[in-house]
Amino acid sequence: MTVADARALNLAPGTHRLWLGVGHSWFGPLRVPMVVVKGAAPGPKIVAVAAQHGDEGFGVLSLLDLSNELDPAKLRGEVWLFPVLNLYAYTASVRHSPFDQQDMNRVHPGNPAGTATEQIAHALCTQVLPGADLVIDLHGGSPENGDIAFARWVDVPGKPSVLPLAQSLDVKFITIPGEPVPGQLTTVTPEIGVPQLSIESGNATDYARNNAREMFAFVDASLRWLGMIDGLKPRPRAVPFARTHSHRCTTGGAWKTYVSFGDRVEKGQRLGVVMDLTGAVVQNVISQASGIVAVMRTGVRCHAGETLCTLGVPTEYTP
Ligand SMILES: [Zn+2]
Repeated sequence: MTVADARALNLAPGTHRLWLGVGHSWFGPLRVPMVVVKGAAPGPKIVAVAAQHGDEGFGVLSLLDLSNELDPAKLRGEVWLFPVLNLYAYTASVRHSPFDQQDMNRVHPGNPAGTATEQIAHALCTQVLPGADLVIDLHGGSPENGDIAFARWVDVPGKPSVLPLAQSLDVKFITIPGEPVPGQLTTVTPEIGVPQLSIESGNATDYARNNAREMFAFVDASLRWLGMIDGLKPRPRAVPFARTHSHRCTTGGAWKTYVSFGDRVEKGQRLGVVMDLTGAVVQNVISQASGIVAVMRTGVRCHAGETLCTLGVPTEYTP
């Protein structure tokens, strides 16, 4: 079933597998998959989205699993799942939609008269997010570019902080708030009035199904934290704060790493090399900070501008 406007939905308790019509482009009507699990009892509304970046498939699998395992009879409130928000990028196995080459996480709150990517963002920000108690944005995790688990959070004045939730998750660090990036979902959710949790996790050193379970656990913990499902309420821990420091490819070639996920590295340490296709080293990637290896390219082929390695750099922060 295609839903013309999510605001008009009036669903009975149950699991509803739907398509949200978000607009129209030169290649036809635009729609994205949506699963609404409506609980038998009233409660909060949470929205979980995956694959804003189309190559990040582990989050997709986690939300599809969730759609099959959440029991509406035992759920208080409603869970809106968008397993593949950037459908066109996902079908092409690339980060950005091939129709407009835009980064979906830079176009929020979107534009109803814009590109396909902008129309999807607009539908999310106007039809789905208003009135939600939490949005969880799943990132990271593709065969080519992986992460250790880390989180960021966005609070909204007048609503309970979600930092204690982030601190209760099994993540290695929490990134401190930075300057708002235009078009990022984290930049617009405060204006919409919805607290946000963003998760990066999963890498190609494990099976996709296991990476998906790690993502699944973060959403499951959020549901317990909000009291939407039975189970222990997660307890905050002393998770370190960090900022991220990225090292990018300056020229294309073949990437070889000298470090592993979670390694502690010192400033000045060699993280890896980029070779041209005759084997000559064209970039020595030297750590510009001391920290832990948080994001890393696990694939070989790299293009100029792509992230090769991102460190989580421990940082003092008082919320
Ligand atoms: Zn992403």
